[in-house]
Formats: sequence, structure tokens, C-alpha cells
Amino acid sequence: MKLPQVNEVRKPSKTLAGVTPIAVMVEPRPCSHGVCRYCPVFNVPQSYTPLSPPVLRAERLKYDPYEQISSRLEAFKVMNHPTDKIEIIILGGTFLSYPVDYQYSFIKGIYDALNGFKSNSLEEAKKINETTEHRCVALCIETRPDFANPDDIKRALDFGCTRMEIGVQILDDEIYKHINRAHTVQDVIDSTHRLKDAGFKVGYHIMPGLPRSNPEKDLKLFKELFTNDNYKPDQLKIYPTQIIKNTGLEKDFQRGKFMPYTLEQIHSLLIEMFKVIPEYCRTMRVMRQFAPDHIIAGTTRISLRKDIIDDLKAMNIPVKEIRFREIGFAKQYMKDIDQDIEIKTLEYNASGGKEYFIQAVNKDNILFGLLRLRIPSNIKSSFIEELNNSAIIRELHVYGQSIALGEKNLEEGQHKGLGKQLMARAEDIVKDLSKTNKDIKKIAVISGIGVREYYKKLGYSLDKDYMIKEI
Ligand code: SF4
Repeated sequence: MKLPQVNEVRKPSKTLAGVTPIAVMVEPRPCSHGVCRYCPVFNVPQSYTPLSPPVLRAERLKYDPYEQISSRLEAFKVMNHPTDKIEIIILGGTFLSYPVDYQYSFIKGIYDALNGFKSNSLEEAKKINETTEHRCVALCIETRPDFANPDDIKRALDFGCTRMEIGVQILDDEIYKHINRAHTVQDVIDSTHRLKDAGFKVGYHIMPGLPRSNPEKDLKLFKELFTNDNYKPDQLKIYPTQIIKNTGLEKDFQRGKFMPYTLEQIHSLLIEMFKVIPEYCRTMRVMRQFAPDHIIAGTTRISLRKDIIDDLKAMNIPVKEIRFREIGFAKQYMKDIDQDIEIKTLEYNASGGKEYFIQAVNKDNILFGLLRLRIPSNIKSSFIEELNNSAIIRELHVYGQSIALGEKNLEEGQHKGLGKQLMARAEDIVKDLSKTNKDIKKIAVISGIGVREYYKKLGYSLDKDYMIKEI
């Protein structure tokens, strides 16, 4: 590989959203409920195929979290990316269904690698990570709707998790049964509710084109995600159904019982889907990347998202979803970005609570930062004791190319005091609400371990897993 020049950031899009993401893969283990019909089974973590880059890296390092993280940190340094603010993404299978001891030792391995040495306990490793060089500012776990019960959630909080992605795929019990998901739509509703009330950012994985669906049904159920208060995810990954080797769908396809959507069908469907994604939701990804050798049939067009966005722009249809509006990405298609920022608040009901989506935007709706504030559904008696009588800040994010903690960069969004302004707006809203709702007595922030120091400076202090301030 040709080494980058001094100050050249190789693959800059990796850190455009403001943090440096590192994926770490768990050891292979079959899912306890059986196998979903579209999910490949190889001797690698469930749902992955042997040639995918994270699998190759993880296999080489025997799925050891310490080694995986250390080697990614090294690679990011070589590419000249900052490595002080790290987002950890745990991949492969359903991590929260693994033996609990394995989960704890895996998470400890992650923090130990970020800290650069092995500590005596997870608690100690987390404490060290609060002030170390490579801080974990966010941690994401992928799970199933039936593995987000109160105990799973409390464990995830103990791990320092801040975001949960749920495999929702489609809101239809009959299809769930057919594809062997072994959970129900009610599980999706309940897990979303619990996760939001615990302060997590909630992402959904959605799969258009599953057996027994059709484009009309997919679109109708997709719209339901944002019109029905039971759902309203903060983030989406949209993975059109592909037929992958070693799946039940492969057999269905060979017997002529199932056909994936054509590129034209999926293109038109995604256009309609993007039209309805609201401004509080971020579309993280469109299309799952499998090695061509493992794809039997289905759309393989990797640039699909770009095609959709280009078409929507050509049709003059505004794209409201977050990623398109983030300053880092907006710079790729806009020359002059107005730096005049105002703070706007969008209110909506979700999962029995009230959400305040506070965003720092310019006149073109380009996004410089955002904060998600929630008044949870049962504020008087939460299933998490520390959250009783508390409003919750589920996310604070200031955008821009990730820059090192303490470094000044006047052009970019980060470190311009925007975070403080967004927090001040949230605190004002909570104080106002508390005048009429005497049950609201404090604000809790679900904070990545490495961001606790930031909240301490704003007057928050640690209560078990949350940073909390009385109002
Ligand atoms: S739950 Fe996820 S990983 Fe497990 S079989 Fe289904 S799709 Fe695959």
C-alpha cells in the first residue's frame, strides 16, 4: 500500500461524521432460535460470509477483541485518521445471547485495547478509558427484538453501550414466521420502547423484498415506521434482500419458489422510501456488501444509494434524512456552505414518550449538530432506578471531520461550542417542562465512557451508568 503523505487523510469519508468507527467481531456461534431463511451459515460469525473484510481480519486474529482493536487503531493511524474518539461496533450474530461471561470478557478486551494494556476488571478498564488517548465515545451492539429485555439492557449499559441496532426487517408476523425469525411485531414494539426509555439510540435493520412481500407492501410497512408512534427509529440500515449461498432462500430460489426484486424494482422502492424518511432519522447504509462469490441472485449495485440521491436531487425532492444533511457529507456536493447556524427543535411522540429533536442547522438545513432529548413514558418509575424522575439525553453529536480532542479547527463543526449550546437548549426545555410536570427532577445522559469528562465539565456526575444533573 502506498503510504499517505504528511497530513493526507486516506479514505476521509470513514471519519466524516466526527468519530472514528472500529468494527470488532465476536467468535462464531449459531443463533439460539435456529436460522433465519435469508441468513448464510458458514463457519464464521452468523450472517457473515467468509470473504468479508471484517471476518478475514477477525479470523486472522482468532476473534480476540484486544488484537482486533489494536490492529484497527494501527491501520487508522497509518491512514492519518485521528484515533482519539472511537466508536465501537460489535458485529456477528446476536452478542447479547452469547454466554454472559463471554460478553463481559469480550467488552473488557475492547477497553483494554483502547487503553493499551490489560487491567484487572471491566470497571477499572472503563474508568481508565474516561481519560485515555483512545476514548470510546460510542458503543453499538446489534441485537434481535427478543434480546432487548430489561436484563439485556442493564448489561448493555454496564458495557458502556450507547446505541442498539435491532433486526426488524419488516413489520409482519406472517412473514416473520415464514422466514423463521422467531419473534413478533410486538417484540419490536416492546424492545423499541424499553431501549428508548433507557436512553439508547435505536437503529432498525430493514429488508425490502423478503418472501411473501411485494414493493407495495414493503412501502406501506416502511411508512408505518414513521407514522406509528410505536416505532420511529433514530437510524436505519436498508438491506434489500439478496440470495446468498448457504441459505434457505437459496433453496427456494433453486426450486423456483422465490425471486428477489430486480434492480429497477428496488431502485423505485428506495426512491419512495427516501421520500418518507424524516429529519430525525439517519440512514446509515443502503445495501449489504457480500463478496460476489457468495451472491446467487439479487441487486449487487453498491452505488445504489448515490443513484437514489442523485435522482431525488434531479427531481428537486428534498432529502430530509440526517446523513445527507450532515456538514461533512454536504461538503461533497455543495460548494459554499453558509456558516450561519440556528438551533431548531422538532417535537414528536414516540414509544409512549415525547422526543425533542434539537438540531443546529443553517438556512439550507445543513446539519452541524444534533441532540435527542426524551421525556420517557413512565418517568416516575423506570425499570432502571437511576432514571426515576429523569428526562434523558439519548444523543449529542456535533458533526465534521473527526479532529483530535483539544485541537482547534474553525472551519469544521466540532469544538465550536455547539455541543454546549445544544445541551443548554435541552436543559432549558427540561426546566420549562418541570414547571408544570413536578415528576421531572433531573436530566440523565447516556454517555460513551470516553465522553464522561465532557459532561462532568457541564455539571453532570456519574450515577451508575448515566451522567446526571439535578435541575
Ligand atoms: S437472528 Fe440474525 S444472525 Fe441469527 S440467524 Fe437470524 S439473521 Fe442470522
